[in-house]
Amino acid sequence: MKIFGIDLGTTYSCIAFVNEYGAAEVVPNAESQTTTPSVVAFEEGGTVSVGDAAKETLNTDPDNVCSTIKRQMGKRDFTFYAFDQEYTPEAISAIILKKIAKDAGEALGEEVKDVVITCPAYFGLEEREATKKAGIAAGLNVLAILNEPTAAAISYGIKTEEPQTVMVYDLGGGTFDVTIIKVENNSIRVVATGGDHMMGGKDWDEKISSYVIEQSCQANGESVDSVYADNELMGDLELKSEKAKKQLSQKDSVKVKFNGETVEISRSQFDQFTSDLLESTITKTHETMLEAEKKGVDHYDKILLVGGSTRMPQVDARLKQEFPNIPVEFCDPDQSVAKGAAMYGLNMAAFAEFSEKDNNGDGPTITKEEQEELRRNVFFGTGSQAKPITIKNVISQCIAVKLICEDNKEHIVNQIFKNTEIPCEHVLHAGTHQANQTTVAIEIFENASTDEYVNEDLCKALVDGELGPLPAGLPAGAPIDVVFKIDENGLLSIDAEHKPSGAVKHLEVNLQNALSKEELQEEIAKVNALHI
Ligand code: ADP
Ligand code: MG
Repeated sequence: MKIFGIDLGTTYSCIAFVNEYGAAEVVPNAESQTTTPSVVAFEEGGTVSVGDAAKETLNTDPDNVCSTIKRQMGKRDFTFYAFDQEYTPEAISAIILKKIAKDAGEALGEEVKDVVITCPAYFGLEEREATKKAGIAAGLNVLAILNEPTAAAISYGIKTEEPQTVMVYDLGGGTFDVTIIKVENNSIRVVATGGDHMMGGKDWDEKISSYVIEQSCQANGESVDSVYADNELMGDLELKSEKAKKQLSQKDSVKVKFNGETVEISRSQFDQFTSDLLESTITKTHETMLEAEKKGVDHYDKILLVGGSTRMPQVDARLKQEFPNIPVEFCDPDQSVAKGAAMYGLNMAAFAEFSEKDNNGDGPTITKEEQEELRRNVFFGTGSQAKPITIKNVISQCIAVKLICEDNKEHIVNQIFKNTEIPCEHVLHAGTHQANQTTVAIEIFENASTDEYVNEDLCKALVDGELGPLPAGLPAGAPIDVVFKIDENGLLSIDAEHKPSGAVKHLEVNLQNALSKEELQEEIAKVNALHI
């Protein structure tokens, strides 16, 4: 019985489990690689390829290749279109998960079923829900959605008696994620999270591409615009630029052959023309540290480097220069997240409460005997000392509501701010607007602002609903308390209470962008019809 950790990355994904010696181990894919490019390529007749094979088709058939789907998770308006079929971000992610799970299952001779999937700490409610549904659509039993930096910290083996404050600097392929966590007594708590989810190694690749285009066009006189307009040429360059970047982590200079020319790039040139990107990660890091400072963090024991892009020598060097007093350590950049997720999954299974539903898909499919065996071997204290790891979390986005304010205009007002520890509760003292009002319209938004009043453009609508019926015959301005609760899984529930009468109404929070049961079934059918 194995539980798997899956790092479903923007550009690369990875799967791991804990072996019989208690060590987390990555399972290579069918191509013998430890990480699989999160790229899906559709072919005529319902065949899809995932990984390197899909990535290679970028220069032959770029229109049927889907990459960086993680950036679209939780978005309703995005579908990928290939061969007369539309695929949601959940379906594309499910295809990636299926490939990874299938390969791992074949390598180990055992089906991959129970999994913990990771997501960035900044993912909001809908992105988490979409990630879980992708797992379900891939036929997996999703035990938990775990934050990537928390998984990295678990894998790093922070099980110290001494409380520690750790900053996880995760520069991946498509995202930059900085998270400040506190570790003590087997508990891992996210204190603050920030970063830029539209920046990552791909941006470094693009800088190389621009440089190569500029230099090659200068040499052969071709117009820069015509090169940019050529999809196949650009797809080819995308692959070459990434390869060149990786080589520059080892060598002082590389040569890129492109469009009949050879362009040489030295590491110092590369560092120079990408320095604005690196600087922006430093700025974001300081912003997040400031948030943590407000919550009492005044020193750091360690900076953990996670994510494939931290292999670029410029990252380590710049962080050491910026924070000379904090030790900077590499944390198995490509594998720590998957490994930590596997360790967490096993720990969860070892300490799971048994109930009927555990064997019906809501918990690990594990027998009591297996559980006892696990506890004997489990890390974080052995034998009778074995303890569950407790994960404490914060919400990564603000929760706001639309209100008619004193100026008689509608405003979106933040109620619960990002980085608030969950579970949490917040009461908004509001009132009815008109006499005899029987319902209250309620619109809920998510945003990353730090202000109380937020511009609608910066918000993502989560819920557009109604609270009611209210007691009959209320005057205008009748006091209504709206209670926002967020549970430990980040799920939001809302109650409205008319204080004088004690009438309470509960609002089902149906996320606008989540797939319904029926829609999920449709996506499952589409995914199952494909030959992966
Ligand atoms: P994500 O989780 O966002 O998918 P990863 O953590 O797997 O990303 O990192 C992938 C990124 O790391 C890619 O942009 C890849 O090019 C980059 N990368 C991997 N190895 C190296 C290396 N040796 N030098 C520089 N960049 C690297
Ligand atoms: Mg990652």
